[in-house]
Amino acid sequence: MTAVVTGHCLCGAVQFEVDQPLLRAAYCHCTRCQRRTGVGAGCSAAAVPGSVHVVAGEHLITGYDPGDGWIKEFCSMCGGHLFARDPDDPSRRSVRMGAIDGDPGVRPSRRQFTAYAAVWEPIPDDDPLESVPENANV
Ligand SMILES: [Zn+2]
Ligand SMILES: [Zn+2]
Repeated sequence: MTAVVTGHCLCGAVQFEVDQPLLRAAYCHCTRCQRRTGVGAGCSAAAVPGSVHVVAGEHLITGYDPGDGWIKEFCSMCGGHLFARDPDDPSRRSVRMGAIDGDPGVRPSRRQFTAYAAVWEPIPDDDPLESVPENANV
C-alpha cells in the first residue's frame, strides 16, 4: 500500500493512511459539526470507499452514533475528530481535514447546511464557494 495522505489525532496515538487520492472536500455548518468541534464549521474530505486505513491506535477510536447519520469517529485519548463513517457501509469514511498531515490534495469546494450557520460566524457575502442550505452529500 502506498499512502497518498497520512494523518493523526491530536495526541498522535491514532494514525491513518489513505491509499487513494481524496475525492473532494467541503465545509459543514450543521449544528452537529458545531457541537462536536466547538467551532463554527467542520471541514471534511470524501474518500474512496476502503481507502482509509488506521495504522495505529485503532482500539482508541470511539464512534458517536447520532442515530440518523454518519458515525462521528474520534480518539478517546485526546478527543480529536478523525472520520465520519457510514453506518450502513463501514468501508465508506470521510476524513476530517484538520487531522491530515500536510497537503490533503483537495480544497473545500462548497459549504453545506449553511441554513444552520452560527450567528457569530455568518457566511461572507463574497464567499467564492458554493453554498448548499441543507445536506450536499459530500
Ligand atoms: Zn488522540
Ligand atoms: Zn456537519
